[in-house]
Amino acid sequence: MRYSEIADVYEKIEATTKRLEMTGLLVGLLKKTPKEIIDKVVYLTQGKIYPDFVKLEIGVAERLAIKALAYASGRRESEIEENMKKTGDIGETAQNFVERKRQMTFFQKPLTVQKVYETFDKMARASGSGAIDTKITLLAGLLADATPKEAKYIMRTVTGNLRLGIADMTVLDALAIAYGGGKETRELVERAYNISSDLGLVAKTLAEEGLEGIKKFKVIVGKPIRPMLAERLSLPEEILEKLGGKCVAEYKYDGERIQAHKKGDEITLFSRRLEDISDQYPDAIDLLRRHVLAEEAIVEAECVAIDPDTGEMRPFQELMHRRRKYGIEKAMEEYPVSLFMFDALYVDGKDLTLEPYPVRRKTLESIIREGDRMKIAKSIITGDVKELEKFFLEAIEDGCEGLMCKSINEDSVYQAGARGWLWIKYKRDYKSEMTDTVDLVVVGAFHGRGKRAGTYGALLLAAYNPENDIFETVCKCGTGFTDEDLAKLPEMMKKHVIPHKHPRVNSQIEADVWFEPKVVVEVLGAEITLSPIHTCAMNTIRQGNGLAIRFPRFTGNYRLDKAAEDATTTTEIVEMYQKQLKKIAES
Ligand code: ATP
Repeated sequence: MRYSEIADVYEKIEATTKRLEMTGLLVGLLKKTPKEIIDKVVYLTQGKIYPDFVKLEIGVAERLAIKALAYASGRRESEIEENMKKTGDIGETAQNFVERKRQMTFFQKPLTVQKVYETFDKMARASGSGAIDTKITLLAGLLADATPKEAKYIMRTVTGNLRLGIADMTVLDALAIAYGGGKETRELVERAYNISSDLGLVAKTLAEEGLEGIKKFKVIVGKPIRPMLAERLSLPEEILEKLGGKCVAEYKYDGERIQAHKKGDEITLFSRRLEDISDQYPDAIDLLRRHVLAEEAIVEAECVAIDPDTGEMRPFQELMHRRRKYGIEKAMEEYPVSLFMFDALYVDGKDLTLEPYPVRRKTLESIIREGDRMKIAKSIITGDVKELEKFFLEAIEDGCEGLMCKSINEDSVYQAGARGWLWIKYKRDYKSEMTDTVDLVVVGAFHGRGKRAGTYGALLLAAYNPENDIFETVCKCGTGFTDEDLAKLPEMMKKHVIPHKHPRVNSQIEADVWFEPKVVVEVLGAEITLSPIHTCAMNTIRQGNGLAIRFPRFTGNYRLDKAAEDATTTTEIVEMYQKQLKKIAES
């Protein structure tokens, strides 16, 4: 097939403003494309040579493209740059220069789609020190054989400026019409795309094997499945009603979604946008290698930043430090992650996407060996509003965003690429941000593990309630302590240790060590939340709930100048909660 045939269609597509017409033009192109190269033509029409999840890109900078054009046209780079100032488009400039050159040459080999594609592919694969020269030579070679119109589109493609605006959905429409026998088959074709994210593969399967091939289409390890998304409601009653009275409620962890594909020892991680992010998370790959017991699997997890010392979850923002190309080793040490697994889409030859959620979850449980840094999402099955609310508050307090409530009905399949009512997110409407530090009393402690063995992993902290002269717990704090602080703590607290909870301390949490309320520390938290566990201002804001400080961090200040009774009071915490209540923008 000649590349000029594609270029002609591109030109027409560019000229149209109507979507239907665009689809029609695409249908025409797909119909006349030989089946063996239909995948390549599909990628090319979107300005690519592979689906997005493949990391290879042609990647030619404008500067290089100008050099190649100078080379192919025998003109100076400065002339080309001058012309580009007028056109503002490297494609059009290439068209102009090739036009002028052509008037002087007699013979040119017609360019085929195959040849153009292969050359693009070679350019994408060029690496190492000679990569730039290789790319220029290859591109110049193509331009030398190109017609002016072809040159325009070649240039736009290699510099990432094709911009025909052909969306995935338009290609699917066109495919269904060209090869599926009509729009009715669109749904089947779309499902194949949703479970493979590879339009080229879908096109080729449909063109070569027809609808039968598409009906047999299964998930493939290595090809990301488009993620299932959730709707949102903020009332637990509504959620339960929508899900048929009963659901599984899972912690909604606040991290980055990861879809892991495992084939033996080989593991690839895809982001929510289906980019290959394996390089960012060698530690997550290692966890999956050790804890996924299946030979082949596609599983989904939320990857969450954790405090390296306490194992507690950290806010989502901390994961941003992992978004880098270099210095991964150091970032991995400073910002380690845990994985919370929440779905299994394929296991050892079995496509699970059409199985109901309880079956998928059970399969997930059967192939995951849990460990410190690898857990299955915490969950309950409930039909009770109160229980759902309580679990929600626990989730918030543990550092999660809220809950994911999922259908457990027969039809609770994995809706790849769709946002539907089978999953409903339950997040808060309000957030009470903390701007001020608080001074809290150390009333208990928990033994440390790992690096913190022999000292405390976290302290149980309380605010003072002067009305009843008692101390009410408000958080567990294990962050912000230096190694020096940690080494000193047991010694420093030794004289305050008592064998049981102090009578003036009100706590529902069982600490490993109890203290007489004496020592005051300064703490800054991210926000104040309702809590079913902490006793601070119990029943004041809402029946059955106290208040808690989320993501507390020790500032480094021991308030030796303060007696326990001078600590922040429970009333002050209530005031802070009310004053800083902010509506969270709908997300
Ligand atoms: P979107 O719904 O468009 O994905 P978003 O990216 O802001 O929006 P949310 O809607 O807030 O994310 O929630 C969906 C995300 O929650 C999932 O994509 C996933 O990353 C995360 N998540 C955390 N825990 C779970 C869980 N147990 N089950 C499913 N998803 C979870």
